[in-house]
Amino acid sequence: MMAAIGPRNTVPELAVRRYLHGAGLRFRLYVRDLPGRPDIVLPAYKAVVFVHGCFWHRHCGCRFATTPARRPEFWQTKFLANVARDRRQHMALEQAGWRVFVIWECETTDETALDALVWAILASGSRVGS
Ligand SMILES: [Zn+2]
Repeated sequence: MMAAIGPRNTVPELAVRRYLHGAGLRFRLYVRDLPGRPDIVLPAYKAVVFVHGCFWHRHCGCRFATTPARRPEFWQTKFLANVARDRRQHMALEQAGWRVFVIWECETTDETALDALVWAILASGSRVGS
């Protein structure tokens, strides 16, 4: 049943989930009907979290966001499409009332970044039920 939705449970995703869980946040996984299929969905906070790979999603200024030397045009086109798609999906989610958070793969081992994510999720304060 979960096989059709692509790679899941990657190490960075697990690290983020574990951290959020440790902070007492409760979330859902595999919410297929949301744009972009966010990696983590926190209905109680009206928040979704994407754990983005720095290479594919182009973490700005990140040392992992390299461009392969071979066929650079091919990669540039591909990267631009990825970034544009991310932006569309984030906008669609925001229009549906979700708060969208991105944590980059290179940040998922950084406790400061994880703390910042937790606080950002909690910041609005507006828990809706649960
Ligand atoms: Zn990065």
